[in-house]
Amino acid sequence: MMLPSYAYFKGKIVPYSDAKIGVMTHSLNYGTAVFGGVRGYWNEEEEELFIFRPLDHFTRFLNSAKLMVMDLGVTSEDMVNITLELVQKEGHRQDVYIRPLAYKADEIIGVRLHDLIDEFTVFSVPFDRYVSNDTGAHVTFSSWRRLDDNMIPARGKIAGAYVNTAFIKTDAVRAGFDEALVLNVDGHLSEGSAENIFMVRDGKLITPPVTDNILEGITRRSVIELAREELKLDVLERHIDRTEVYLCDEFFMTGTAAQVTAVTKVDNRPLGDGEMGPITASLRTLYNDVVRGKVKKYRHWNQPVYEKMMVK
Ligand code: PMP
Repeated sequence: MMLPSYAYFKGKIVPYSDAKIGVMTHSLNYGTAVFGGVRGYWNEEEEELFIFRPLDHFTRFLNSAKLMVMDLGVTSEDMVNITLELVQKEGHRQDVYIRPLAYKADEIIGVRLHDLIDEFTVFSVPFDRYVSNDTGAHVTFSSWRRLDDNMIPARGKIAGAYVNTAFIKTDAVRAGFDEALVLNVDGHLSEGSAENIFMVRDGKLITPPVTDNILEGITRRSVIELAREELKLDVLERHIDRTEVYLCDEFFMTGTAAQVTAVTKVDNRPLGDGEMGPITASLRTLYNDVVRGKVKKYRHWNQPVYEKMMVK
């Protein structure tokens, strides 16, 4: 992966090679960091880079920080402006991934959240696809379980919790699958390794509620709105059993990185007719147009990078 040219680090934009931390840093030793994942989409016709729902992403980012007893001293609007300045300086003319990361910066020994220095950084890199087979992914039910809210809350994007994701992803990929589905400790489906999930049964779109140890995904929220508004679908948020997935008509995963990824097989069982279904296909096309700023009704989700410097 190409390295960034710049990073926002300790209050200003610096060359990426100057954005360094010491090996004793608390977050490196104890996983006490939180992060975000935001995408910018290049629109060739308009020669503009559109960042997708940055205020929503930075609001969630600051909420993750709050869970970890961090005070970053910035608002989500400040974070958008920092990001705009950084991405403008990079001058990207292609799709990008933007990573804000807040971390406990002290170089000390001792596990805790309080009385520590909070710092944050932002950087961006060119980015293409995350799940290589995004039109017909073959997934497995992971033998790992999703962390419970009383262990490490999944609604925060907490660095240490992503060890759970890493176990899940590595075992799935090494076993020859594209991705994995993860059950809660109570046996209900929560999400993918780093994606929210949706199934279609009897014409209804069904996804687990935010209380099922999921990340409150921005893509999930967007897809729910698009399904209700544009496809006029019923969208239910309720528990999903493992065996319902075997019987569903369509299944897909959503995420900033994964976008709308069609799942056509789980543990060697074809889902529906084993091909990407019509609802998945429609939502996939719609989402891809929306993120690139091609749908007027949803232009308020697209923050242009080069058109202007600051949001209000
Ligand atoms: N769940 C997990 C565990 C994730 O890491 C992600 C990726 N951020 C998602 C779901 C999808 O969230 P979003 O649509 O906000 O990217």
